[in-house]
Amino acid sequence: MRTANLSGRLVIITDDDTAVDVEEASDGRFGPDPQNIYERWTDFRVWAANAELPAGRPFAAADLGSPAPAPRQVLAVGLNYHAHADESGFESPDTLPPTFTKYVSSITGPVTDVHLPEDGHTDWEAELVAVIGETAHQIGEDDAWLHIAGLTVGQDISERITQLSGPAPQFGLGKSYPGFTPMGPYLVTPDALADSDDLELSCSINGEEVQKGRTRDLIFSVPALVSRLSAILPLLPGDVIFTGTPAGVGLGRTPQRWLSDGDVLVSYIEGIGELRQTFHA
Ligand code: ZN
Repeated sequence: MRTANLSGRLVIITDDDTAVDVEEASDGRFGPDPQNIYERWTDFRVWAANAELPAGRPFAAADLGSPAPAPRQVLAVGLNYHAHADESGFESPDTLPPTFTKYVSSITGPVTDVHLPEDGHTDWEAELVAVIGETAHQIGEDDAWLHIAGLTVGQDISERITQLSGPAPQFGLGKSYPGFTPMGPYLVTPDALADSDDLELSCSINGEEVQKGRTRDLIFSVPALVSRLSAILPLLPGDVIFTGTPAGVGLGRTPQRWLSDGDVLVSYIEGIGELRQTFHA
C-alpha cells in the first residue's frame, strides 16, 4: 500500500496513481490527519486491505505534504555507509551510529522551493526514511519491520558552516533551516516493495547524478537501527528515522561543491518515488 498527505489530508494512492481520501472512503472511521493515522496503524492496515475503495482522483505532486508532517521525534543517523564515512574523514561506526535530530519545523513535502542561508555552504544528502507504525522499545532486529509503517524518501539538507562550527558540531541546527527536511512523495509499506532491505537511491543536481547507492550497503540496516535506537529510547508511532546518506555529498568532493541559486535537486528511491527541491539565494 502507498499512502500520502494530499493538501493536509490522508489519502491512499491507487495502482493508477490517483488519490482516495481515507476519511471519505472509511465513512469517518479514520480521520483526515496524515500524522495521527500512525496511532492506529494496524487497524488502518487491516481496514485498507479489505476495503472496496472508490475510484481515486488525479492530483499534482506539488500538493503533497510529508507523509509524516509532525512526528514527535526525528532521529537522523550519520556515517551509515562506509564510502560516505570515508569521504567525510571519519571511521565507520561499529556499535552505534552518530544520531542527531532535524527539528520538526524544517519538515516539508516532496516538491518545494528552498531558500539558501546567506553565506552558507548548503549540501545534499539523499536518504531512505523509515516511519514508525507501532511503538518500538527495546526490540530485536527480527521484530523490527513489524514496528515500521513504511518507507519514504528524505533529503537531509545540511548547511555545513553552521553544522561544523564551534567547539562541538551543531548537527541539529545546521540541518534544520526552513525547508531542510523534505519527505515524500509517498509512504510505501514494506510488503509493497520487492526487497525493503535493498533499494537503489540516487540524487542529481540539474540532471547530473551526484549520489547513487543501495540500502543493502547500510552499515546499520533499518532493522538494526530500530533495534539499536529503541534500546535507548522508545520510538513512537509516526516517528521518523533518517537512515544516512551514501557517498557523493558536496562536502566530500575535491573541490567541495555547494548548492546555489537556481539549482534543482532530485532525490530518488526505487519503488517509492522522488523529491524535487529548487534552491533560491
Ligand atoms: Zn544525513
